[in-house]
Amino acid sequence: MNTRRSFLQKLSAAAITFPLISFEDCTNADQAGSKTYDGPVLRVAIMGLGGYGTRVADAMVDCKKAKLVGVISGTPSKVKAWQAKYNIPDKNCYNYENFDAISKNPDIDAVYIITPNSLHHPQALRVAKAGKHVICEKPMALNAKEGQEMVDACKKANVKLLVGYRMHFEPKTLEVVRMRMDGELGKILFFQGLSGFRIGDPTQWRLNKQLAGGGSMMDIGIYSINGARYMVGEEPVWVTAQESKTDPVKFKEGVDETIQFQLGFPSGAVASCLSTYSMNGLDKFYLNGVNGFAEMQPSTGYGPIKGRTHKGELTQPHATHQTVQMEEFAAIILEGRKPVIPVDGEEGLRDLRIIDAIYEACKTGKKIELR
Ligand code: NAD
Repeated sequence: MNTRRSFLQKLSAAAITFPLISFEDCTNADQAGSKTYDGPVLRVAIMGLGGYGTRVADAMVDCKKAKLVGVISGTPSKVKAWQAKYNIPDKNCYNYENFDAISKNPDIDAVYIITPNSLHHPQALRVAKAGKHVICEKPMALNAKEGQEMVDACKKANVKLLVGYRMHFEPKTLEVVRMRMDGELGKILFFQGLSGFRIGDPTQWRLNKQLAGGGSMMDIGIYSINGARYMVGEEPVWVTAQESKTDPVKFKEGVDETIQFQLGFPSGAVASCLSTYSMNGLDKFYLNGVNGFAEMQPSTGYGPIKGRTHKGELTQPHATHQTVQMEEFAAIILEGRKPVIPVDGEEGLRDLRIIDAIYEACKTGKKIELR
């Protein structure tokens, strides 16, 4: 992982870009920014105009460095509505059949894939082949094999691959990471991650193995995997996991309802995590070192994130996660900025390797070594 020095360098770079952003600053950023910012802008097309795509689009209105300029959708009525709302020209609108033609569109730099999980891999390969930067929602793919193919395809096409890990720019999260890197918690021994909610409509794609690739682990459990890695600051070397199912009708074969998993790190630190689609309000991280602790609850929701450490409350201001993420993604792509916690394809791949191991551990009951 990063050294403390490089962390501080990156943190100060981030602070220059986001000097104490408040919610009001964010909502006024467009007006203020359009007057003061005349640097390069990342022109983004969103693929998949669903719930999260809508949230990202609305958040991007307040970005200076990133702008929504195009859409890719299978629903013409949505395209029309988005065109009207975000002033998107006809020439930047595509569907799932014809979007390879984006290669000939000089007005789009990047495509943000916000479709069901199983579509990320084939769509990312097509976007890369079209020569556009790929921004992809979590989970980046269904497994490490697919993830590796995405990394390779983007490398080959000489485009960037970034994963929508919005928490990597969240100020309270970054403060805990700074404290850990600074040694303020002492040697890290334990992380707990609880990630879950009670899922509704049994017909939704999240409960369809073909589209989701699994169940709660692919969707929400991944936050505890990713969080364990950036909170502990190491890559796990072993995984154990146990699956439990109370409703096999709703959660069919291959769709996990609840999984408990444990990760072991090279230093001897361990993580104990829960991923579930059956309990509401599970959104908590707890990090313990020999000299102190950090507790965050909620830890990965849209915010405001709340947290405290052995030194007191975390008071860093809230900013809309997706606005900050897109500003930072633009800086990474356009200016070569290196984030404190990585958001590239390799980072997505690390989580997928762990997900593969968790599913294997559930199936075999064995401790799975990670290399
Ligand atoms: P959603 O169901 O609201 O939207 C999915 C969109 O994909 C819809 O517009 C749908 O029409 C479109 N789509 C295209 N092909 C489809 C197909 N074959 N079947 C079904 N829908 C199809 O889902 P969402 O909540 O927007 O999630 C989309 C992605 O974003 C997922 O990968 C999810 O994990 C991710 N996500 C990330 C966050 C985050 O905080 N980073 C939050 C929510 C969702």
